[in-house]
Amino acid sequence: MTLTGRGVSSGIAVGKIYVYSPFKPEPKESLCEPGEEGEQRSRYEQVTKNALDELETLKLSLEKDDPEKAKIFAAHQDIVTDVAINEEILNKILNERWCGDWAIFTAYEQFLRMIRRVKDPLIAERAADFEDVRRRLLRIWYGRSGTAMPDSPVIIAAHDLLPSDTAALDRNTVQAILAETGGATSHSAIIAKSYGIPAVLGISGLLDCVRSGQLAAVDADEGSVLLDPDEASAAVYKRREARFRKDRETAAAFRGREAFTADGVRIDTGLNIADAGDLDHADYADSVGLFRTEFLYMGRDTLPSEEEQFVLYRKVLERFGKRPVTLRTLDIGGDKTLASVRLPVEDNPFLGNRALRLCFSHPEIFRTQIRASLRASVYGELWLMLPMVGSLDDIREAKEFIGGVRRELESEGCPCGSFKTGIMIEIPSIALVAEEAAAEVDFASIGSNDLCQYLCAADRMNPSVARYYQSWHPGLFRLIGETVKAFAGAGKPLCICGELGGDPLAVPALVGLGMRKLSMGAAALGRVKRTLAGFTLAQAEELARQVLRCATAAEVERHLKQFALQGGNEES
Ligand code: PEP
Ligand code: MG
Repeated sequence: MTLTGRGVSSGIAVGKIYVYSPFKPEPKESLCEPGEEGEQRSRYEQVTKNALDELETLKLSLEKDDPEKAKIFAAHQDIVTDVAINEEILNKILNERWCGDWAIFTAYEQFLRMIRRVKDPLIAERAADFEDVRRRLLRIWYGRSGTAMPDSPVIIAAHDLLPSDTAALDRNTVQAILAETGGATSHSAIIAKSYGIPAVLGISGLLDCVRSGQLAAVDADEGSVLLDPDEASAAVYKRREARFRKDRETAAAFRGREAFTADGVRIDTGLNIADAGDLDHADYADSVGLFRTEFLYMGRDTLPSEEEQFVLYRKVLERFGKRPVTLRTLDIGGDKTLASVRLPVEDNPFLGNRALRLCFSHPEIFRTQIRASLRASVYGELWLMLPMVGSLDDIREAKEFIGGVRRELESEGCPCGSFKTGIMIEIPSIALVAEEAAAEVDFASIGSNDLCQYLCAADRMNPSVARYYQSWHPGLFRLIGETVKAFAGAGKPLCICGELGGDPLAVPALVGLGMRKLSMGAAALGRVKRTLAGFTLAQAEELARQVLRCATAAEVERHLKQFALQGGNEES
């Protein structure tokens, strides 16, 4: 029997299934007896204390060997002690007389509903953390102990995996992850990708079909799971699994190296970051090619103060030292909303008041961020980048605003370092006047995710138009090629920081078009550097010429795949 789902982290695995079924709380909607409120409150306080103790033990056990995982539990401690949630729970117990378990369940539900409304994957990840903490609290409330993960190699099959489940995974023993829920940006997918564990998610009915101990062969590239493979099939999968493991090791070996093409052309490889947690990968990158600062603003009820922003920006700049940190100013709107600012509902939010436009209409928010950034510029190489720029008017207005903030800081005797000002090229209208734009900025970076969305007129979040969102559309490559020429002509740096920049399939064509700076998530660094080392500039340029001659996305894809298969030895 073969099951299918969505392969979200590539690889092959053959092994025994382990069905993971953690405690699932099902509290009843019930009031406590009048006068019992105090008792329920004490019980809740004891539960939070026990939860904090459990989390502390987990955190300490991981701190030395896996500080990244330890941070998950530190974040969970913050949720347990969160003032707003605790107030809400105590209010439900003391004023509304709900039993403690129902109060915990519903108070967390309120917060979860708020978080789930945001489509941003980073925030969605936070929802999984809240869900996880709620499950822990209720498990302790009912006096149940936790579920341990096995310590021998297994393929985990679960309905869903929450952050503490994935944190408990040992990357050396988990051969693959299968789950009924979850898409490409779910927490399970993000963890699996960062650990290099093959994962197939969204397999409907998975738990009805599998049992612990059953043999399975997973092909996460195809998104398929073959149950009870016969000996011959298992042997084929095993050989493919060995190849996959070797491949992963060689990619990891490239991560810490400088990136060159086979004939020695140096390619600058930058890191895309969302918060200070991503700094663990700082040693493997030449720069921060994209710092998505909006993460600091999201999932909270108040705007971050100038001081809070300054501390974070300074930390990132200091960590990168002389290497540039491309700090993108607030990119809110579209699918990303803020709880701290009431924004009018728009019919077409992606075409509405988002990013730089929103900063223009809320100058006090923009001003605070620019003040914090310019103050932090003393501590490193700040490249300030403006998102959603559509015209030279936008560039001029933003530069004037930034200049004003700089003068204001200087008049206060507050030191500013030197910094560069640049733009994201993610609206076709600015790409088409790239030459003129290049004259007015110090640098630019292509946001291929949005550029593709606006070029193809297909909402990047809407699965029903996914087939119209064509990342291989020849028009996109032509536009990138023209933009590269414009910036090269002006002698100004140009990067690509959208998903294409970290895609080994797209990288040779981008280099062939003249791109010399790529920025990507940490997981892509090793693979991209290895890809770069596998072709010469002449081969890449020939590929780019072929791509520019294509008329359809399918033709482009065929050329890119053929190039990848031949390891760059495409005939000219
Ligand atoms: C992009 O649009 O390509 C980009 C990098 O920005 P974001 O994905 O944050 O919109
Ligand atoms: Mg964008």
